[in-house]
Amino acid sequence: MKDKTFLMIPGPTPVPERVLLEIAKHPMGHRSSEFSKILESVYSDLKYVFQTSNDVIVYTSSGTGAMDAALSNLINEGDKVLCLAIGNFGQRWAKIAEGLGAQVEKIEVEAGKAINPDELKAVLAKDVNKEIKLVTLTQNETSTGVTNDVKTLVSIIKEHGALSVVDGVTSIGAMDCKMDEWGIDVLVSGSQKGFMIPPGLAFLAASEKAWAVHKECKRPDFYFNWTTNRKSVLENSTAFTPAVNLISGLKVALEMMKEEGLENIIARHTKLAKGLRAALKAMGLTLFVEDEAIASTSITAVLPPEGISVPDIRKIMKNDYDIVVANGQNKLKDKIFRMGTLGFVSERDVITAVGALEATLYKLGHKFELGAGVATLIKYMNK
Ligand SMILES: *Cc1c(COP(=O)(O)O)cnc(C)c1O
Repeated sequence: MKDKTFLMIPGPTPVPERVLLEIAKHPMGHRSSEFSKILESVYSDLKYVFQTSNDVIVYTSSGTGAMDAALSNLINEGDKVLCLAIGNFGQRWAKIAEGLGAQVEKIEVEAGKAINPDELKAVLAKDVNKEIKLVTLTQNETSTGVTNDVKTLVSIIKEHGALSVVDGVTSIGAMDCKMDEWGIDVLVSGSQKGFMIPPGLAFLAASEKAWAVHKECKRPDFYFNWTTNRKSVLENSTAFTPAVNLISGLKVALEMMKEEGLENIIARHTKLAKGLRAALKAMGLTLFVEDEAIASTSITAVLPPEGISVPDIRKIMKNDYDIVVANGQNKLKDKIFRMGTLGFVSERDVITAVGALEATLYKLGHKFELGAGVATLIKYMNK
């Protein structure tokens, strides 16, 4: 049905009506005092969500822009960089670093697995001359639905002395990410994931230690330059013309996040994802990440039943039930489908999605007890 589409993909995610109405207003002058007030509120609330006292820079770009901004403000040609890659987004860090002329070493794991802290320890222990300048990692790997233990990994990196550069794009606003307490040096995120606004903004915060390394960066990017961008943050302004409407929408979204409270937001994501996982299993489906300890609470990857194709499932979900679920990426294309429980998602949404998936699988001839998914989900949510 027209105008009824519900996105259950890992970004863009659904947007609350309050935010949509805000974004629909006439654009403001980006140098006006009214807009400066909005920025003041946004910069302050971003610190709350990032759990940091560091300034948070807002870029008008997609999330990858902030990843680019992270590395292009730290790396000089020839620097050694260690990239912990558990999927496509972890590999993206390596590609950016290579483009900047870094010598990239990687720890890679099979899709569906997380980084083993002991392996990181062993690799860093071999770097006796402390040549590795920074380590990149992904908190929540969107391509597989695996969450790394960032707290432990960052503590190991800290012990070595390298900077930790963390992709928090599908983790911030969904799962715990304590920038200051865990000692993360650079943390980035993007608007269309846990922040409940459309694509177009990216966020970056850096520790004092990272700022000192930035000072030694010989050719930082112009648009993404940390120094010029932070100067504007301190003046409740932006370096260039930002996506003013998105920033007004972000102000409202951040107020909603503060109202709900980070702890409650995290608990909601955990409950929805775990309920969804239980329901999928009850429908006789196999989860791509079986280990609960590393399973994401914002993205769940699922294998289709034997003899039923991912494109058919996605097509019926979309055409008959107006729910969009994501395909797998690259090698996992048509091998898995991914359901987002990220951002502005409630129990109703997951009950609806599980019901629609049951109906879809029923139409496609999957043999299972019709209703088992929804029943399991409802019981899980009310236990
Ligand atoms: C979405 C996403 C990004 C950024 O992607 P953009 O398309 O540039 O917004 C980065 N990392 C992860 C883990 C993501 O899910």
